[in-house]
Formats: sequence, C-alpha cells, structure tokens
Amino acid sequence: MRQLERPSPNHAARTSPVDILVLHYTELLLEPSLAILCDGGREHRVSAHYVLAEDGTIYRLVPEDRVAWHAGRSRWRGREGLNGSSIGIEIVNLHGDRHDYPVVQVEALVELSRDIVARHPAIVARNVVGHSDIAPRRKIDPGLRFPWARLAAAGIGLWPRPGAAPLEGDIQAALQCFGYAPPVEVSPADIVAAFQRRFRPSRDDGVADAETRSLLADLLDQVGNRP
Ligand SMILES: [Zn+2]
Repeated sequence: MRQLERPSPNHAARTSPVDILVLHYTELLLEPSLAILCDGGREHRVSAHYVLAEDGTIYRLVPEDRVAWHAGRSRWRGREGLNGSSIGIEIVNLHGDRHDYPVVQVEALVELSRDIVARHPAIVARNVVGHSDIAPRRKIDPGLRFPWARLAAAGIGLWPRPGAAPLEGDIQAALQCFGYAPPVEVSPADIVAAFQRRFRPSRDDGVADAETRSLLADLLDQVGNRP
C-alpha cells in the first residue's frame, strides 16, 4: 500500500468515538481534489482523512483522531452531522455513475478500509456507507458503478443476497430501521432511491418494488433487525 502524507489544515478535535466510514468520489482529478481539500482559505473549508488516487496511491490528509469535513448535512441510524464520528475517504473518480473504478484503486481501497475498521472496531458493517446513503438526494457519490459487492466480499460493508421474501408493510419504517434517515426535506421516494442507488444500482427509480423489498428484507436479516 503506497501511502503519502499531504497534510490538510482543515480539521477539528474529536468529541465522539469513530463508528462510521463514509466513502465519496471526488468529481475532480487528483491534483485539483488535493488542492481543494488542503485549502485553508476557502469560505466553506472541506477535507477528508484520505484521498485515493486512480493508481491506488493513498494520500493521508487528516489524522484519524481529528475530525475531517466531508459529510456535511448528514444522517444515519438516528444521528445527524456525521463528521464528528466518521472517517472519510475521497476516491478519485469524475462521476461514479459513468466511470468504473480501476481494479488497482479498488484493491487499495479494500486494504485501506480493512486497516481503518481494524483500528475502529465500532465501524460495524452497516456503518460503512456512501455519501448518498447519509445525504439522500443531495449527494449521489460514490455512484452507481461503485463496487459495493466487491467490498462486501472482502468484509467491508454489506451486500444483499437475492431470493429473500419481499418485506411487507411500511417500507419507510424498514429503511429507517436499517439506517436511512426519516424524510425531512426529502420525499419518501428519495429515500427509496438512495437505497436502490446503493443496493440495486440497475434501477434507482424510487419505486418500492418487489425486488427492492426483497433486498431490504435480506439486509435487515443480515443485521438482525426487523421493524
Ligand atoms: Zn461526497
């Protein structure tokens, strides 16, 4: 694992323990990404703990025991403002709905994520999330082409198994039970679409169809939690 130091001035003290890993894509090439994430003079300063280049090189910007500013307005499992309790990785990709993540980059991400989870065992599988999971509609990263199944096969995060009986009843309650925030400024369909973007990327139309309900049922079984 090739790791380089690129310290960012954009960080703050931690006041709560780390139990979430948030994955992003940069929307920019490597150097402009590093420039923005290390710029202490912007009105809205941003950062991440790590930037992962397309060739698998890892840039370490912020120490894990400091808060980086990557999540913005965000919610997961009943909590808000997740910067304080998360590690953030920015993965270089211009648009994760359109561009595949190179294998060498994905393998480096697996290795880095394993190390992070080993250092922070409170990051349980369901707390490995995409930005789009914790900020539905507002954010779409890491995108439809992000290899969640590959990560889950390596023990990082969850991936649903097909074939479960579709979940009956209130899908919003079930999505909330899994971790998605109750709709506030977003519609119920936006929450369903965020779930699909993550777990059924072939169609993220926001319609809670039988396959969506089946995948959610399996995930709730995997985490041992039903509404
Ligand atoms: Zn993001």
